[in-house]
Amino acid sequence: MLKKIICPKRIKKLLDKYIIGQNRTKKILSVTIYNHYKKIYYNNILNKKSINIGKTNILMIGETGTGKTLLAKTISNILKLPFILVDATVFTESGYVGEDVESILTRLLIASNNNIELAEIGIVYIDEFDKLSRKSKNPSITRDVSGEGVQQALLKLLEDNLVYISPNIGRKHPEENMIPINTKNILFIVGGTFEGIETIIENRLKKNNKIGFNKVFTKENKNNIIKKIIIKDLQNFGIIPEIIGRLPIITYLKKLTLKDYKDILIKPKNSLIKQYKELFKLDNIYLKFTKSFIKIIVLKTVKLGLGARGLKNICESFFINLSYYYINKDKKKKYIIINKKKYFKILKK
Ligand code: ADP
Repeated sequence: MLKKIICPKRIKKLLDKYIIGQNRTKKILSVTIYNHYKKIYYNNILNKKSINIGKTNILMIGETGTGKTLLAKTISNILKLPFILVDATVFTESGYVGEDVESILTRLLIASNNNIELAEIGIVYIDEFDKLSRKSKNPSITRDVSGEGVQQALLKLLEDNLVYISPNIGRKHPEENMIPINTKNILFIVGGTFEGIETIIENRLKKNNKIGFNKVFTKENKNNIIKKIIIKDLQNFGIIPEIIGRLPIITYLKKLTLKDYKDILIKPKNSLIKQYKELFKLDNIYLKFTKSFIKIIVLKTVKLGLGARGLKNICESFFINLSYYYINKDKKKKYIIINKKKYFKILKK
C-alpha cells in the first residue's frame, strides 16, 4: 500500500507512462482510484463519523487489445495493492459444475499472501464480463445458469458484504474453516468487448429519432456511437439492473488508431521495441529500427484483428529469427539497422 495519497493528475501521469491514448478513461480511473484510496486511507476517521462512502466499481467497455486489462493492472501497480485478474466465463452459479464466484475472493486472498486485511483493499479485474449477459429478455422463461445466475451471485461481492470463503479454490468442503472477507473496500473493475452494443445504441437512437429520421449513420458517427451509451443499453444487452447499479462508473475505450499502434510499439516505459533493444544490448548488439519497419509491423498487426495484443505476435515471429541468426560471437559492439527490406529478408530465413 502507498504511504501517501497521490492526486488524480499524478495518477494520470503515471498511467500515461504505460498506456497510450485512452485519455478520458485514464482521467475517470484516476479520480475513481484517488477517491477509493482516500476512503481506505481515512477509514478510521470516516468510521468515527459514521460516514459510509459508497463503492465505486467500474465498468470498462472496449474492443479486445485496447488496454482494459493493462489499465487495471497498472492501477494496482501504482497503488501497490494486491491485484487479480479473472475471466468471467469460468464461473457458474453455486451448485453447478464450475467455479463459484466466491473463489474470486479466495484468489485475492492468495495474492495477498493470506493477509486478510490486505485482501480486503485489493483490486479485482473481471474480464469477459459481457459473456455473462442474459440470453433472453424474459428471465422467468429462460433461467440462464451460465449468465444471469453468475451475475446474481456476483452481486454480493460487488456490494458491501461479509462473504465467507473457502481457503482453497474449487469445491467447498463442509468441514472446511470458512474465512470471512469484507468486500466493502475491494475495488472491482469489470471489462468486456460488449459486441453488438453499438447496434443496440443505434436502434435506440433511431427509435427515439435523435439523429433525424432518414439520416444515415456516417462511419465517423458509427465509430463514436459508444459515447452515447446509457444504462438502458446495457440492460438490453443482458446485464441485470442490480449489477448495473453496482457499477456506477461506466467508461469506454477508444478504437486504436494507426498512430496509437505505432506509439504502443515504441513509447511506453516497457514497450516491445525497448524490450527487444535491451535484450540485444546484453549481447552488445545495438538495434535501430527505421520508420518503414515500424510501419510494416503496425499494418500487419491491424490485419490480425487482436488489437495491440497482436503486436507481440507479429514482432515475435521476426525477432525469433533475428535472435537465431544474429549471434554476436566475438561480443564486439555491433549495430544492426532494420528496415522493411531487412525485415522480410530475416522473416523468410
Ligand atoms: P484488453 O483491452 O483486451 O484487456 P489488454 O489490456 O490485455 O487488452 O492489452 C493487450 C496488450 O496490448 C497489453 O499488454 C499491451 O501490451 C498492449 N496495449 C493495448 N492497449 C494499449 C494501450 N492503450 N497502451 C499501451 N499498450 C496497450
